[in-house]
Amino acid sequence: VKLNLKDYIQGFKEKDISILARAITLIESQKSEHKEIALELISNLKVKKKSVVLGISGTPGVGKSTFIESFGLDLIDKGKSLAVLAVDPSSTVTGGSILGDKTRMSELSQKAFIRPSPSGSALGGVALKTKEAITLCECFGFDFIIIETVGVGQSESNISKLVDHFILLMQPAAGDDLQAIKRGILELADSIIVNKADGDLKNKAQITKNQLENSLEILRHRKIDIHLVSALYQSGISEFSDFIIKSSSDKKFFDKRDEQLRQWGENILEMAVLESLEGNKHYRELKTKLVNDLINNNKTAQECVELIKDGLKYGN
Ligand code: GDP
Repeated sequence: VKLNLKDYIQGFKEKDISILARAITLIESQKSEHKEIALELISNLKVKKKSVVLGISGTPGVGKSTFIESFGLDLIDKGKSLAVLAVDPSSTVTGGSILGDKTRMSELSQKAFIRPSPSGSALGGVALKTKEAITLCECFGFDFIIIETVGVGQSESNISKLVDHFILLMQPAAGDDLQAIKRGILELADSIIVNKADGDLKNKAQITKNQLENSLEILRHRKIDIHLVSALYQSGISEFSDFIIKSSSDKKFFDKRDEQLRQWGENILEMAVLESLEGNKHYRELKTKLVNDLINNNKTAQECVELIKDGLKYGN
């Protein structure tokens, strides 16, 4: 059955989870009529209570699915409702879903709303859809929204601006491996979780935590919490969820939203401008010509810069 705007609004009022799923599908749709309803829906809905939006990131195999399953079930045991959205801009090869085909979240999937990532979209597209999916989930009224991403640089910094608390998952590592961790991603984290702190890995996990604490001290001054957990054996999970619940009961937890969103908005608009420039034939031709002039020493870099600015003014 085809639904209209009123049906969607009614579905949200009645907390009909299948309507939420369909609304997110509208956002992901390429069809303009679908997008139109989705955007109208968003502008009609109101956020009654802020959701706690958490980002969870880490390299494949670090234990994200296992962690989200344990952590999510613990939140639900504590009476919180939960939506999990996956974002995986790198997965064009596998066709998308990082959560969809996993059985590790089987229990959670019966108690929480879990949404695999939209497949095959460009980075900018994913960012926009994620923002709007978060908005829909927040209007729906979840206490917690988890955004799962795979550690791939640029998307992380983009996604981190959409969340209230960014959690980086790591596993026990030798010092050399730690060196290899990109500074950029550590800078984004509000919490670091060293997972797999169990069995033979328990000591190594503790050493990793100490090393991280040392390197973070050098990196910056902002306070960052490092937690040892075993997602598989559920140790440290309840403590971590208590920590998040307690932190988010303070209004300050949401303070950086506006500033982050401003940065995110500027970033997304700049990306849109660049994209549309690249689609402009006059610009592309002028750019190619000026770059050649530069290579052949016909013009200086400064002249090229001035000429492309003039070209943009008078072009088309
Ligand atoms: P993802 O790719 O980051 O989602 O990682 P998965 O959750 O799929 O986990 C990757 C592998 O690590 C699986 O074999 C898990 O069973 C294992 N794993 C996850 N968490 C833990 C943990 O806390 N301890 C141990 N020993 N293994 C874990």
